[in-house]
Formats: sequence, C-alpha cells, structure tokens
Amino acid sequence: KLVLGIETSCDDTAAAVVDDAGHVLGEAMHSQTEVHLKTGGIVPPVAQQLHRENIQRIVEETLSASSISPRDLSAIATTVKPGLALSLGVGLSFSLQLVNQFKKPFIPIHHMEAHALTIRLTNKVEFPFLVLLISGGHCLLALVRGVSDFLLLGKSLDIAPGDMLDKVARRLSLIKHPECSTMSGGKAIEHLAKQGNRFHFTINPPMQNVKNCDFSFTGLQHVIDRLIKHKEKEEGVEKGQILSSAADIAAAVQHTTACHLAKRTHRAILFCKQKNLLSPADAVLVVSGGVASNLYIRRALEIVANATQCTLLCPPPRLCTDNGIMIAWNGIERLHAGLGILHDVEGIRYEPKCPLGVDISKEVAEAA
Ligand code: ATP
Ligand code: FE
Repeated sequence: KLVLGIETSCDDTAAAVVDDAGHVLGEAMHSQTEVHLKTGGIVPPVAQQLHRENIQRIVEETLSASSISPRDLSAIATTVKPGLALSLGVGLSFSLQLVNQFKKPFIPIHHMEAHALTIRLTNKVEFPFLVLLISGGHCLLALVRGVSDFLLLGKSLDIAPGDMLDKVARRLSLIKHPECSTMSGGKAIEHLAKQGNRFHFTINPPMQNVKNCDFSFTGLQHVIDRLIKHKEKEEGVEKGQILSSAADIAAAVQHTTACHLAKRTHRAILFCKQKNLLSPADAVLVVSGGVASNLYIRRALEIVANATQCTLLCPPPRLCTDNGIMIAWNGIERLHAGLGILHDVEGIRYEPKCPLGVDISKEVAEAA
C-alpha cells in the first residue's frame, strides 16, 4: 500500500509518499518561515499565495523522488482540519484535482491526529498512549486509544507555548541578536537561556490553583512583558534594543514554561493511571510539536515520566514539526483501520476549527 500525504494547514507546503511498512519513499517541503518572520507573524493571504505557487512543484518532486506515478497510489491523504482556512483550501482543492484525475480514494486528515500518530511510524508504540502536543499553534494533552479514538484531557485556554515564546522573543528583539537572528522565537529563547541564570527572576507557573490539565500562556506573556518594560527602564535601554538581562529573562521564561507543561502532564498521567486508562507499569508518554525540540522542556518531562514509570518518546525533530510524512502515515493508519476512506468526495470541506477527540477535562478536574 502507498499513500501520498499533502499538508498545507499553516505555513509549510509539504508532501510525502509512505508505504505500509512505514518507509518514506519520497518527500518534499517548502517552508514559508522566512517570509513570515519578516512580517512578525503569518499573514493568511500571503501564506495562501505561497502555497499556490509551490504545491504543484512540491507534489511533483515528492512523486519523482518516490519513483512512482500517481497511478501506483492506494489513496491520497490531505490535511483538511484544523488550520488556516486560506491555507487548508489550497491543499484540499489541489488534492481533489488529483483524486478526480486518477480516480483514487481520498482520506481527509485531522492535523493533530497526524501529529499524535507520527510516533508509530518511528517506534513500536501500541495503543493506548498519552500524547502532549506543543507547537506554535497548538497545546493539548490527549489519551490516544486508537487511530481515531482520542480522549482530550486538557488544552490551552488561550495561546500555545510556541506562540508565547515567539512573542517574548519578538519583544526581546532577539531577531537583532547576532547569535539568534535566523532562529524561530522558541529556538532563540532556548539558545539564549543557556547563557542565563534561571534563578535570577522568579516567575510563578500559571494556573497553579486550577487542578485540571488545561494550560494558559497569555498571563505568563503579560508578566514577562511587564518584566521587560521594567528592565528597559532600569537599564536605560530603549524598546527594540537588546537588554543585558535578556539571557536571564529567557532562562526564566523557559523554566516557567517547562514547569507548567510538566505539572499538567504529571496530573494527566496520574489521572489516566487512576482510571486504568494507562498501564500502571509500562505506559508511554509521547511529546511532539515544534516546542518538543526544546531540550530543557524535554528534560522536565523526562523527570515526570521517570517519577511515574512512563517511557518518554519523541519523534525526531523533523517529524515533530509540520511535514508531509505524518499526513501520509495517518493515511496508512486509516487504511489499515478502514476508517474515513472516501470514494466520493462530493461535499468534502475543510474545517478551520475542529477539536480532537472527546473532551473529558471536566472529569479530570473532578478527580483531582
Ligand atoms: P502547528 O501548531 O499547526 O503545528 P506551527 O508551525 O506553529 O504549527 P511547529 O512547526 O510544530 O508548529 O513549531 C513551531 C513552533 O515551535 C514555534 O512557535 C517555535 O518558536 C517553536 N520552537 C521551535 N524550536 C523550539 C525550541 N528549541 N524551543 C522552544 N520552542 C521551539
Ligand atoms: Fe502542526
């Protein structure tokens, strides 16, 4: 079995062909990060235009790298939810053209389901397992019971941790820092934090009195904004210049973020074990998303995993961020499970907003 996966939910135009043994036959990707870094965020019509300009070439490159023709495909899988409407639309309409032209089954993919299942491509992981997805656009904790069977334990009530780190990095003008100018905000914070002292500033983790598995990062961002303003005054530095305390601030932000993520994850593991949703002895915690490449945050989660007899697994960095391989693999998983394979694409639409699985956050709060 061979599946072509196409991803355009945000700012990457990506495609890949994967077989049912998990081999990647070919892949290609066009990243818009550089363009969006200049505007300080994604401008949806710009993202749409760049997807349009690149999608055909990316899919052609993927197929030629795979040495296959579209005729050899078992199905075409494409992200249809959640994401930016204008971006999702480009991938979906391009895929439907292929589907109609080559008379292939179509598999609509939930972007977060694909992130969550990626680990099964690289490691032998059986259901159920717990997953923490942390990126620029998402933040959630879910129990994965099957290919399309998720229990949502917690999510961010406002922005995602990557978004918060990006905003803090922008406020600190790290793009002007000679060592960080080409890095994403999160990566720049990680880099600078290594040179800082995390004990210099103490920032309380958010939601300490809310005993569930939800997250929040907006309050933390405002606390840090105020700290930066205060330091600018104290150091006599103008907004837009680099503070001499920037590394200490980065270290504090990173530490507080790690604590927050670790505490909520710890509660989720305890809840799942208490309710017999996870094995008491050999449970698996998967952490993925762009923020999962942060080694300080990963170490914090490792401590939680060790304390709860869980094995921590992370996909390799290139599979943690958006890619075509995870979409193709999700297609393979769905083919195996016989789930959501469409032979008639009449009426299929993209959905910018779409929660993942059954929300049980209230039960978590009641149990705590
Ligand atoms: P989506 O949320 O749909 O997956 P995205 O493009 O925002 O989309 P990713 O590509 O998975 O998500 O991750 C990008 C985010 O990860 C950015 O916010 C970036 O700052 C953050 N990030 C990348 N590297 C690191 C790092 N080393 N430490 C912390 N955050 C990081
Ligand atoms: Fe993503």
